[in-house]
Amino acid sequence: MTRRALIAGNWKMNGLSADLGWAQDVCAGLPHPLPGDVVVCPPATLLFPFKVALKDSVVEMGAQDCSCFKGGAFTGDLSATMLKDIGCRYVIVGHSERREGHGESDANVRTKAEAALSAGLIPIICLGETLEQRESGKAEAIVTQQLRHSVPQVHGADVVIAYEPIWAIGTGKTATAQDAQALHAALRAAWPYEGAEALRILYGGSVKPDNAQDLLAQKDIDGALVGGASLNAQDFLDIIKHIA
Ligand code: PEP
Repeated sequence: MTRRALIAGNWKMNGLSADLGWAQDVCAGLPHPLPGDVVVCPPATLLFPFKVALKDSVVEMGAQDCSCFKGGAFTGDLSATMLKDIGCRYVIVGHSERREGHGESDANVRTKAEAALSAGLIPIICLGETLEQRESGKAEAIVTQQLRHSVPQVHGADVVIAYEPIWAIGTGKTATAQDAQALHAALRAAWPYEGAEALRILYGGSVKPDNAQDLLAQKDIDGALVGGASLNAQDFLDIIKHIA
């Protein structure tokens, strides 16, 4: 089975309206035809301007989080339906910065993924181990457990998984392509539902133009979730060029 590659840029809490030229630069530099999917996940304040800037473009939009609730008295939160309404196709859930900084559990992540699916969004469900867990040889056990508890019952094609070792996020350290491949293969083997072969599993953690080729060449690495390097249009394009 051939899985369509996906490169998603997570802008985190970065970006102002002055940075919207990124959309034009990326759209102008993309290969034609595009051999995969490209998504930008800007902060919520830029979703509408991005929707306008990306009109008629192949670049799709994602959000960085969603509420597990449909609506109501949840000050500051955004529902999956609102994100769909503004033009998102994807939403990241369970990013380690939300798991750690906002106390989100696997169960919370699962309900958010369910809300995303009900609203017609594709959740990008993030998983990853700490440095201590990796060094004590527990990475695979921890991450496959997160997989079982964070993912609602779906067919593999309905969601995207992002394996992001926490020690590699924003640190400049990356898993070797071989270690990342081994973990991706373990996740595919541990997929508890139908459609493991259709499941797209992205790697995230300091993906840059100079390490993307090796990572994206691995059999079970179907794309990348890119943080810091996605803020620079040329760096993002230099990562995208490695999808086959
Ligand atoms: C991320 O935010 O998901 C991420 C992987 O960040 P970075 O690429 O900066 O490590």
